[in-house]
Amino acid sequence: MTQTEQVDIFVIGGGVNGTSIARDAVGRGFSVMLAEMNDLASGTSSAATKLVHGGLRYLEHYEFRLVAEALAEREVLWAAAPHIIWPLRFVLPHHKGLRPKVVLRAGLAMYDYMGGRRLLPPTKTLDLSKDEAGKPLKPGFKTGFEYSDCWVDDARFVVLNARDAANKGATVYTRTKVTSARRDNGGWTLTLSGPDGEQTVHAKFVVNAAGPWVDEVVGNTMGNNGAHNVRLVKGSHIVVRKLFDHDRCYIFQNADGRIIFAIPYEQDFTLIGTTDQDYTGDPKDVAISDSEIDYLCRAASEYFALPVLKADIVWTYSGVRPLFDDGATAAQEATRDYVLKLDGDLASGAALHVFGGKLTTSRRLAESAMEKIESVLGQRGPRWTKESKLPGGEFEPLQFESEVRRLAMDYSRLPATMIRRLMRLYGTKARVILGDNKELHELGAHFGADLYQSEVDYLIANEWAVSSADILWRRTKLGLHTGAEDKARLDAYLAQRR
Ligand code: FAD
Repeated sequence: MTQTEQVDIFVIGGGVNGTSIARDAVGRGFSVMLAEMNDLASGTSSAATKLVHGGLRYLEHYEFRLVAEALAEREVLWAAAPHIIWPLRFVLPHHKGLRPKVVLRAGLAMYDYMGGRRLLPPTKTLDLSKDEAGKPLKPGFKTGFEYSDCWVDDARFVVLNARDAANKGATVYTRTKVTSARRDNGGWTLTLSGPDGEQTVHAKFVVNAAGPWVDEVVGNTMGNNGAHNVRLVKGSHIVVRKLFDHDRCYIFQNADGRIIFAIPYEQDFTLIGTTDQDYTGDPKDVAISDSEIDYLCRAASEYFALPVLKADIVWTYSGVRPLFDDGATAAQEATRDYVLKLDGDLASGAALHVFGGKLTTSRRLAESAMEKIESVLGQRGPRWTKESKLPGGEFEPLQFESEVRRLAMDYSRLPATMIRRLMRLYGTKARVILGDNKELHELGAHFGADLYQSEVDYLIANEWAVSSADILWRRTKLGLHTGAEDKARLDAYLAQRR
């Protein structure tokens, strides 16, 4: 990496916002390069609650624009990636501490109406004394409301955006930090530091999608003083052995007015989160605290008949929301909407700084970013992502089960659970991983659970996987199902492949 490459747009950051902008831009005909200093989605974008949702509670904060845009995105994203995104029904148990039933019902009717649902089922009222969803709860919950949102595998969503961008011609570097960006010659000269050393790139336009590091990039990397635009709000989750047998999730409102979710997770587990706390440390060191563990256990135990204990926890993860600092007093009240700040012009070198946003609105954020970018660079192509597919998602949203059945028929000697897992992660690309190999022993070395060499090789070749954490915790969640010896075998294999 020695000579200076020239690109139209350089994107700093391989989270959901950076990869979505890179994908949209390259699809319109711009030349695009993206650098991610660690692994794709290693920042906030793998630490979410993983919902594609309007955000019922944002209605209470009057964020109508955000909620309407997010609701409309549910079916757009589900259609784009029906393997990694799917509908989820939410059960809201009613109790005296909540708003009156009639008000909640009206709020949910508005949520249904604003969302422009076509395929997602509508809200309904549940009799929790009869419905299965009432069984794991404490006695006393009589009525519940059930409504629709969607689930997304957040880290895979990012990787698929990056894959699609690269398929369309973008250059994507991982483990490559942008150490400096300086205005130069009607654009920017960027210095990158990656596995092969240093490289300089000249770009007409820079997108700063560094998430929690956005201010650091404005200040240290771009050399502007006094950048204090981002408010870091930490959120943590706990994962426990499965607390209930059905496939719906719960939304619980706590005594402090906050809400938490309890979501069926990776077949054998329940995911509980999240917290909302201002954070001032280094984003790379974010981790759950004892008080957050206590809070989540206590909040879930208010609802479940069996208490959720610290000893039940098998995994935790934490992330920081890089929210725009709108001066709100409480962390949970800071706006979840995104803010895009255009800085400079074509003559002096232009940049766009990205604040906030959600997985749910990342495609729309990219469209808004393109409007700003094209106001400087000129228009190259029309909007195109709304009707597009992400890699592996080339089937209709309601066809997922029939795709699983087809794959199971073609690979009938492989375990059904493995077929389903591969379809969920890779969609139609599961066939690329399996190829002509019809038996487990034909899939190469075994790394625990149902992870075999052919999948690992696919992830290295197509999804920028380098380390065992990339594979076990971001491209898959097999870390929950494998042990230290499996990881050591995988580490040894990856070292030998380098
Ligand atoms: P990031 O994912 O952090 O990406 C920024 C990247 O930039 C990082 O990977 C970092 O390594 C890289 N970077 C930084 N500096 C440099 C540099 N100098 N050079 C190269 N690379 C650099 N949204 C939803 O829609 N649904 C949810 O359920 C949901 N739940 C959430 C729960 C929690 C607890 C949190 C924290 C967020 C949640 N969100 C949710 C919001 C969503 O996850 C974030 O808005 C989104 O992931 C932010 O993406 P990003 O690309 O801006 O940042």
